[in-house]
Amino acid sequence: MKSVVIVGANFAGLSAASQLASTIDVKVIDSQANFEWTPNIHEILSGVKQETSVFLERPKIVARLGHQFIQKPVLQIDPEEQRITLADNSRLAFDACLLAPGLSRNNHGVSGAEEYAENFRTAQDVTRIRSKVEALCRSGKAFSVTVVGGGFTGIEALGELLRRYRKNSRMSIRVIERDSRLLAGQPAVIAEDITRLCQPFNVDIRCGVGLKQVTRSSIVLDTGEKLESDLTIWTAGTKIPEFVRNSGLQLDAGEMVEVQENLQTRAFSNVFAAGDVAGFSPALSKQAYHALDMGSIAGRNINRYLKNQPMRSFVPADKPIALAFGDLNTYLIQQQTVFASPLLATAKEAVYQLYMTQLSRSLPLQDIGGGLLNRAFGSMRNLLIPEVSRLKILDVLRRSKVLQWGGLDDIEAFSRAMLITATR
Ligand SMILES: Cc1cc2nc3c(=O)[nH]c(=O)nc-3n(C[C@H](O)[C@H](O)[C@H](O)COP(=O)(O)OP(=O)(O)OC[C@H]3O[C@@H](n4cnc5c(N)ncnc54)[C@H](O)[C@@H]3O)c2cc1C
Repeated sequence: MKSVVIVGANFAGLSAASQLASTIDVKVIDSQANFEWTPNIHEILSGVKQETSVFLERPKIVARLGHQFIQKPVLQIDPEEQRITLADNSRLAFDACLLAPGLSRNNHGVSGAEEYAENFRTAQDVTRIRSKVEALCRSGKAFSVTVVGGGFTGIEALGELLRRYRKNSRMSIRVIERDSRLLAGQPAVIAEDITRLCQPFNVDIRCGVGLKQVTRSSIVLDTGEKLESDLTIWTAGTKIPEFVRNSGLQLDAGEMVEVQENLQTRAFSNVFAAGDVAGFSPALSKQAYHALDMGSIAGRNINRYLKNQPMRSFVPADKPIALAFGDLNTYLIQQQTVFASPLLATAKEAVYQLYMTQLSRSLPLQDIGGGLLNRAFGSMRNLLIPEVSRLKILDVLRRSKVLQWGGLDDIEAFSRAMLITATR
């Protein structure tokens, strides 16, 4: 029997596992027990979601798929010897391997960042940050929170802080971004709109400045300026995990694992990579939907590779990106066209509900029922009802607009993406 090892069991890894034939011995490895719906973890910060509402149990999902789940960190992958080493030093041999471990935090060499700046990558991280903010609120003193990084994650974190705490006059928030503006790489109108929405609140946005040091209660900028920071949240970048870097696999110019069109790595035909860790050409934004689609193609191609059949190419879908800014606005971005409306939050929520339900299908029946009801009810109560019940509907409509029009090509691509999602 051929053996396949999948490293990482989130979007890309689980999607691949669902495609692998039952005639193959498949081992799915992840250091954590639960699948996490990462695109919504920022909502834990405001209490719109609980840690458990973004979870599904991996051992149950993987068992339903007919494969074996191993909950251990992977320490090493040796493509030439065709084996991986786990944290307990046990080894697993493979005929083919899929790397889907996502990315890890990048401190960019800033002193004290690892010790004092809070990670914002998992539901557990965000739950911990929320407890710290709540403790600062209870202290009764004025306090400041710094978000380092004004990219997608930083902005979504800022939005949730404002959703929950914008009326707390003792709290001040600062955003530090090295680039000359927020959300570099996205249409500038979004950064402008966010800056405008922040104006009534105690938010200090500083772009074009780097960070030199983080301490327990302060940050030091490149300029030498020292600023108080009772809580520093790190959303300033990612990199491939160390065990991948040390594996001898070829990296691309962006320092991701270079893959061919069929998602086979360049250096070793028996190793595939999918999701955030994969360096596809042209470079893709690090999005969950790309990870899901890549995982699915990688899984099918591994079946074909093991049977010496021709493999298929991964063709990235041109889908819109949704960026939530708490209850103040949500942006739907299709290339250069940007729609903005607080009501789009429900579209992002619908995607979450849809995929969680699809993934739940791999769970035993009793888990599907309870999980679905809790998720749907929690979301209704926390996201949809506040918008409607406070008679804010006119205000919401006033804030709904096309922020930027990029042309008919964007609308065509958007309609195509919606059609594909709806008919899946
Ligand atoms: C705060 C935040 C908000 C986001 N918002 C959005 C959004 O709105 N829309 C969107 O499309 N995308 C969003 N993303 C990006 C999206 O989450 C990623 O693109 C997606 O998770 C990538 O999937 P993946 O399977 O490649 O990796 P991941 O989801 O990161 O999964 C990697 C898995 O590998 C495991 N792993 C890692 N190293 C090891 C090891 N050594 N041993 C064993 N297991 C290991 C991890 O535990 C994890 O389960 C967001 C990400 C974050 C952090």
